[in-house]
Amino acid sequence: MQVLLPIIRCKHPARIKIKKPNRSQIGNGYLQNIPQIPNMYKIITKIQYEYAHRLIHHLGKCRNLHGHSGEAVLEFTAENLNHNGFVMDFGDIKTPLKAWINANWDHAFLANAQDPLLPYIQSEGLKCFIFPHEPTAEVMAHYLYQHVNQSGLLPTGVRLLSVSIQETCSGIGYYAPNLITP
Ligand SMILES: [Zn+2]
Repeated sequence: MQVLLPIIRCKHPARIKIKKPNRSQIGNGYLQNIPQIPNMYKIITKIQYEYAHRLIHHLGKCRNLHGHSGEAVLEFTAENLNHNGFVMDFGDIKTPLKAWINANWDHAFLANAQDPLLPYIQSEGLKCFIFPHEPTAEVMAHYLYQHVNQSGLLPTGVRLLSVSIQETCSGIGYYAPNLITP
């Protein structure tokens, strides 16, 4: 047997009243405790390149001359957007940066300046890029960060947040300056 339940209609549904702060409450710090968080827009650009390297001080397999399909990933940030609604135009940074990577790192031997193989590779006229340290992904990320920061390519208000170098499908070297001041 079907039981019919009565339908109860509420003539005066309950209302939730939100109390607005009055002026004296605002003046007494009512809203001052809410943190004022600035905008942070971000864009990320990626550039692929191929390179060879070896780590002369490494005791494992990275001591051998080997190659990677690398990817540089750069994060740019700004508190305000430009008149196009961009942090910045991707092309304004990606085009010159890709040209620089193609000229310097792509299909090159990225070498530690102390590598005893380096003089021979240079004497053969092969493409080399020399670092004062081991050419790890972290060193590449730091180098690229400084290069972009000093390039004059960044519009006012745009900051390079980080650079990472993806060396393998599971290994990434990352550089970002410590922006927290004591
Ligand atoms: Zn490697």
